[in-house]
Amino acid sequence: MSVPVQKRNKKNVKSPTITMTPEVYRLYRQTIGQKEPETFALLGGRLDNPFHITEYKFCPPCKDRHGRYDASRSHVNVDHEFMNWVIDHEWVPNGKYMLGVWHSHPAGCTSPSYGDPGSNQGDVVFFSSCLNGDDSPDENWRNFIAPITTLDHEGKDLIHGWVLPKGSDRPVKAKIKIPEAEVSLYDALGFLKQCTDQDIRPWYHSGSLTQEMREWLICSLRLIGQQKIAERLLDEDAAQERVDFTV
Ligand SMILES: [Zn+2]
Repeated sequence: MSVPVQKRNKKNVKSPTITMTPEVYRLYRQTIGQKEPETFALLGGRLDNPFHITEYKFCPPCKDRHGRYDASRSHVNVDHEFMNWVIDHEWVPNGKYMLGVWHSHPAGCTSPSYGDPGSNQGDVVFFSSCLNGDDSPDENWRNFIAPITTLDHEGKDLIHGWVLPKGSDRPVKAKIKIPEAEVSLYDALGFLKQCTDQDIRPWYHSGSLTQEMREWLICSLRLIGQQKIAERLLDEDAAQERVDFTV
């Protein structure tokens, strides 16, 4: 009996997309996203949805033999016991498990470091040892999610997505999807201010906005001094209603 040679599945090599809840993104912005590197957080979620982060725990580094936190601008040493405690006592009882670690690097160092297997230091070596230590209920943790944040010269955070598949020593680039709900009202109003009525009208009338969003848009336009556009949209609505009524 011959077994057909399995073709390499392109899907397996496609870069994965990492997603997260708005709450995870909010916690990230309050911690790694605004602190001097290096800092890190433990990431968790369900292993049946392994690229979606639902848990975020900003972690203290481990302490050196003098009792000081072992972290600097170019390294951070994790506290395994603390991490294991969170996973075992908080996440596993709620059906969650570790998915990876988010950490920050000095500016320009956008990819994981390799490190030395002997010392268990360096990103890829550490990620592999975590995957190999998988003690989840079904032992089905296959990918280590590892976003890396760097800060640019203005202090703005840049996120670089990485995933290390189990058994590999080559991290794969991943896309990162930021939850839209986290766009602040301030950002949204700033964006609206730059829009002309040609930008807004097709959007408003496209049918893709809920009634609530349409009302929010009208209020916001008035708030930022774009009354003319707001009145025009309402006039167009009224005209549309008259058409609907006569049909
Ligand atoms: Zn690193």
